[in-house]
Amino acid sequence: MKKLPLNIFATSFLFLVFLSGCTHCPQQQKDTLYQVSTIDALLNASYDGDTDIRSLKERGDFGLGTFNNLDGEMLMLDGTCYQIKSDGKVSEASSDVKTPFACVTFFDAKETFVLESGTDSAKFAKDSSKYFLQNYFYAIRIEGTFKMIKARSVPAQAKPYPLLTEVVKTQPVFEFKDAKGTLAGFFTPSFFRGVNVTGIHMHFISDDRKSGGHVLDFEMTEGFLKTDKMTNIFLALPDTLEFSAMDFGKNLEKDLNKVEK
Ligand SMILES: [Zn+2]
Repeated sequence: MKKLPLNIFATSFLFLVFLSGCTHCPQQQKDTLYQVSTIDALLNASYDGDTDIRSLKERGDFGLGTFNNLDGEMLMLDGTCYQIKSDGKVSEASSDVKTPFACVTFFDAKETFVLESGTDSAKFAKDSSKYFLQNYFYAIRIEGTFKMIKARSVPAQAKPYPLLTEVVKTQPVFEFKDAKGTLAGFFTPSFFRGVNVTGIHMHFISDDRKSGGHVLDFEMTEGFLKTDKMTNIFLALPDTLEFSAMDFGKNLEKDLNKVEK
């Protein structure tokens, strides 16, 4: 029993070493997908998270997600977090705003591919094994000119929150023609079903940073795809009453297809 204080000291010391080790190993952070909450929680109308944009930026400079009360689509690019609201307006998100669902990483391109003219969302998904080893996570960045992009944003919700499948029935959809911009998103392996959107999930922002949204469909004029393979995942679950009471027993795959496509 007398040894207890020493043990506590030793444990704390090790914990500190572990923590400082983590913050000083950028390569590991670069290859880590940092995810807030789960896609099934979002489908179950869990729209209030406890992670703010300030702390999200400590975990990545690139990614996507949404904001508390489902107030628009999030796209993070080169360290700037954009909020694309349902009226189509794009602004930089305040550091104090929180997110109920987000995925970020420090983007570090490892491979580049030329995307031929005419590549559309269906072809890109069909050819996904050309670009992604199917059992790993990838950050995806496509830059170029798009013949067409169909994107949506979600309107802010009031409590009691409706399910996401209800919200998207009235979502505004924007169609951009001959747009220059960036698609940012992720490829997620099938074994992560229920936790994230499996397959390809991307958000769009125009070069002038004035328009964007969650991508429903696109067709390239010309562009490049940069990919960043990730072998680590950090899953941050919301420490909220709402999340703790949630029932995750139901398979929500059909709901997800209604919401994402
Ligand atoms: Zn999205």
